[in-house]
Amino acid sequence: MTDRYSVFSLFREALRGNRGWQRAWRAAEPKPQYDVVIIGGGGHGLATAYYLAKEHGLHSVAVVERGWVGGGNVGRNTTIVRSNYLLPQNAQFYEKGMKLWEQLSRDLNFNVMFSQRGTLNLAHTPGQMDAYARRGNAMRLEGIDAELLTRAEVQKMVPEMDYSDAARFPIEGGLLQPRAGTARHDAVAWGFARAADRLGVDIIENCEVTGFARSGDRIIGVETTRGRIHAGKVGVAVAGSTSEVMRRAGIDRLPIESHVLQAFVSEPLKPLIDTVVTFGAGHLYISQSDKGGLVFGGDIDGYNSYAQRGNLPVYEDVIASAVALFPNLARVRLLRNWGGIMDMSMDGSPIIAPGPLPGLYLNAGWCYGGFKATPASGWCFAWTIAREAPHELNAAFTLERFAGGRVLDEKGVGPAPELH
Ligand SMILES: Cc1cc2nc3c(=O)[nH]c(=O)nc-3n(C[C@H](O)[C@H](O)[C@H](O)COP(=O)(O)OP(=O)(O)OC[C@H]3O[C@@H](n4cnc5c(N)ncnc54)[C@H](O)[C@@H]3O)c2cc1C
Repeated sequence: MTDRYSVFSLFREALRGNRGWQRAWRAAEPKPQYDVVIIGGGGHGLATAYYLAKEHGLHSVAVVERGWVGGGNVGRNTTIVRSNYLLPQNAQFYEKGMKLWEQLSRDLNFNVMFSQRGTLNLAHTPGQMDAYARRGNAMRLEGIDAELLTRAEVQKMVPEMDYSDAARFPIEGGLLQPRAGTARHDAVAWGFARAADRLGVDIIENCEVTGFARSGDRIIGVETTRGRIHAGKVGVAVAGSTSEVMRRAGIDRLPIESHVLQAFVSEPLKPLIDTVVTFGAGHLYISQSDKGGLVFGGDIDGYNSYAQRGNLPVYEDVIASAVALFPNLARVRLLRNWGGIMDMSMDGSPIIAPGPLPGLYLNAGWCYGGFKATPASGWCFAWTIAREAPHELNAAFTLERFAGGRVLDEKGVGPAPELH
């Protein structure tokens, strides 16, 4: 049986008709008791389980997933990975993620196709250039790579955008993070699942958490569609379903709203964009996948929803932005679009904290940016669960900050989820 992925195992299996590969992870049956149960088999839940086993020696761990691994936002996102944040708490946390990303394929023995093709934020006014100079300087002070580009440098990098005098939103320049880029979304879920499984974690799919077992205030396990599972500690990492799951624990008010975010993919094209471009005069981010499709997205749909599909106004707005920036896309055909449920926090920053009940730990509030956070979130959440206290990297990501007014409002826009 072949377990480890390498050029040698590929060669060996090619010679024996690929009959020796093992399942990437076992189809585990729930046991009656674990030290830790993580609810949610998305990127964050699986990464948490992996780091609990790898970094903290906790092997009696289960991940319970309502559907299948990779069926949530981890398999639905536009795959942008970056650490170009202004506030030091966010910058340091996401930079930890960037460092983990840089080693992730090797660490997991799974090619997550991390591609450091850069992220370019476009500026369309002198005021925006000033704001980007400030953000870039703040990043460099935190030890993060950032380069302010002139219009000519942007044009050299992405020649297909509209630089004519008639451009609706003239490009002034941009802020580039060269180490940023993209990764293959479902490979990240599969890679963490496989690596966690190899460390003894049970990944239990088709197992919905319907309630919590309690002893007084303390959470002592979960009720699931496959029976009760006792646990010393329970971590919640269910992204867009956070409010629903926490309501089952009796917590019915959280500073989180669930909204749909749509993504779009075009028919495959020859190489056109070899970085990630974000529009500065509207909400659009666009890159090109290795298969050639343009992958892009924009705003959340403005209403609360648990449907994994969106509506036409956002669709039209995103396409209009794409065509304003790249006029030659007007004749490109869309291949598909879909939606995912986002857990929008009221300050745009996440929550990774013990509580709010004894025995319970919360990981939520990822807004537009939880995919890039996957390794850092799992790493910090595992630390928080194992040591029953946050690491300094997530010490500011408390739930109480919203009541106490110590918010981490990265963009300074207030409690307005659509603007985060
Ligand atoms: C269209 C789109 C584009 C995005 N683009 C980007 C991007 O470019 N860059 C970026 O950084 N981020 C992006 N994001 C955000 C990112 O995908 C999410 O923030 C992140 O994936 C959320 O964490 P997760 O992977 O753990 O979530 P999920 O994959 O959604 O995992 C949560 C899991 O919990 C499970 N669950 C829910 N309720 C229960 C229950 N009761 N019992 C058991 N299991 C349950 C769900 O089935 C789900 O599998 C995007 C999101 C979307 C939708």
